[in-house]
Amino acid sequence: MIQEQGTISINTENIFPIIKKFLYSDHEIFLRELVSNAVDATQKMNRLTALGHYKGELGDTTIDVSVDKDAKTISISDAGVGMTAEELKKYINQVAFSGATEFMEKFKEAKDANEIIGRFGLGFYSAFMVAEKVEIETYSYLENAEPAKWTCDGSTAFEISEGSRTQRGTTVTLFLNEDSTEFLEKHRLQTILDKYAKFLPVPIKFGTKTESVPDGEDKDGKPKYKSIEVDNIINNTTPIWTKTPSSLKDEDYLSFYRELYPFQEEPLFWIHLNVDYPFNLTGVLYFPKLKNDFEVTKNKIKLFSRQVFITDEVKDIVPEFLLLLHGVIDSPDIPLNVSRSFLQADSNVKKINSYISRKVAEKLQELFVKDRKAFQDKWDDIGIFVKYGALSDEKFYEKAKDFLLLINTNKEYYTLAEYEAKVKDFQTDKNGNLIYLYTADSELQHSYIQAAQKKDYDVLLMNSPIDNHFIQFIESKLEKTQWKRVDADVLDKLIEKEEIAKHNLSEDDTKKLAAIFEKAIDNKAMKVEVESLPADALPVTLTEEEWMRRMKDMSKMGGGGMNFYGAMPDNFKVAVNANHPLITKILSAEESAQTTLAKQAFDLALLAKGMLKGKALTDFVERSVGVL
Ligand code: ADP
Ligand code: MG
Repeated sequence: MIQEQGTISINTENIFPIIKKFLYSDHEIFLRELVSNAVDATQKMNRLTALGHYKGELGDTTIDVSVDKDAKTISISDAGVGMTAEELKKYINQVAFSGATEFMEKFKEAKDANEIIGRFGLGFYSAFMVAEKVEIETYSYLENAEPAKWTCDGSTAFEISEGSRTQRGTTVTLFLNEDSTEFLEKHRLQTILDKYAKFLPVPIKFGTKTESVPDGEDKDGKPKYKSIEVDNIINNTTPIWTKTPSSLKDEDYLSFYRELYPFQEEPLFWIHLNVDYPFNLTGVLYFPKLKNDFEVTKNKIKLFSRQVFITDEVKDIVPEFLLLLHGVIDSPDIPLNVSRSFLQADSNVKKINSYISRKVAEKLQELFVKDRKAFQDKWDDIGIFVKYGALSDEKFYEKAKDFLLLINTNKEYYTLAEYEAKVKDFQTDKNGNLIYLYTADSELQHSYIQAAQKKDYDVLLMNSPIDNHFIQFIESKLEKTQWKRVDADVLDKLIEKEEIAKHNLSEDDTKKLAAIFEKAIDNKAMKVEVESLPADALPVTLTEEEWMRRMKDMSKMGGGGMNFYGAMPDNFKVAVNANHPLITKILSAEESAQTTLAKQAFDLALLAKGMLKGKALTDFVERSVGVL
């Protein structure tokens, strides 16, 4: 018998077509919304019982999600607080559309269904994205309550009548529309539940599964097993981030990591986040093994709100460099249903950002202090992360500068302070600048490194993908310090001292020599200079000016606004070693031999810089054979 008929209080003609039209890819969130409502109602019931306001039996509060393929329905059933007919009117009919006018204005700007649904309290109504008709059968826990039933066919007309539920709680049944029958497939629903409901705090049953259980012994005394059908509970109601860190062992964190990312390598370490003031946030963040390929490991943090999965797009919620981390963050204080620009400006989000960043820095500091050796062993994986963090977050840098490590070509590790102390005496130039020499590739730049080491200079290994940016950054942080790649110039010019070695060639010979090489090389981009280098250094060395090369490398890596440099010509210098016997020989040789020898010496320089390729290499090999 129908007790009441009416229209849902909304002053626009029909809101359902709008809800239905929202991004089709988002339709699956109807299940998140309805299951969350069931969880909320169950938790209210738990609380009422715990507080003694409800004296009856709490009973089994497992939430049941079931599918009826023939009837084309999905039902979500809970043993929560239920609703009276009055409450149905109040909570389902009115509240949902109290902001209807605003809704109509805003929905046009909204980017996705999430935004609309949360912002306007339309959680329940997301059911109409997939259903042509929705039925609520509910029975309130309140004394003397009567079961009630609410039906709505997707127009603004609803119907409240006598309900048929005999047990406390609510069952929402969706009669799926023609476009949404995909949700009748078991594995489709299972996937959605895995995504959104895997860590909800109330057990959720979805069908049954077979399990093998002990069944006595056979005649030889061996244990027997039999298959039985058991409830398929899809969620872990107490994921580790909800527990206190002191109750957890390493293995608990590792197995949770495996649960989140089944086929990933084990993480290096983790941080358990837990704050309740001035905002609420829990979570566990893991440091993955980064290697050099950090795009692959990005965007793996999952965001939850009271154990409901919300998104794995957290890029507006955590600082960019922290996106390299894995794990979960759970916070009811992150506004979930607002636009991205709003998120970035939100003060809670800002506080959360700096909190996480600080925690991460503290954890790294702790590891460094506790066991430096182990920290160094992990540096290959965390180095990139620490540098990235330092670059992008000033406060993080302030903490990280104590444990940020530099590695030299002998594979020795130094903090910034230690390294400065190490090289200060030898590598300070006549202007008082401390020169840090580095290589990006110790194989390719081997001859340059060797030359530097002969002079007792130290060379740092800076070969991670962000080192170009990092060098640019750290140079600006360290006082009176310049970074120069070993092949940026001849050593005497990389670190200029008071006394400069001079060669004995006359001015005439010097000019002549330069002309011979210019002719032999025949390339305007190569600037020939006659230098005084040690007699046992190479006859010709090719160098590449630091600043321009760095800008070009950075623009290759993609650093905003630097593409300009990518188009600039290369800036090479051909340093001809006036003190080398071969060079003296070239000067006194016949004109035709001069060119050949100069070419050969230049090619050797190219070879030492790893730049001899293609036809030039073939020519060189042939010429060498000829010479031999
Ligand atoms: P919200 O969950 O944000 O309040 P919803 O549209 O999802 O918004 O739900 C509206 C209201 O309907 C809830 O606040 C609750 O009072 C009531 N409700 C929805 N589902 C249930 C349920 N399964 N059991 C009891 N009450 C419910
Ligand atoms: Mg809700």
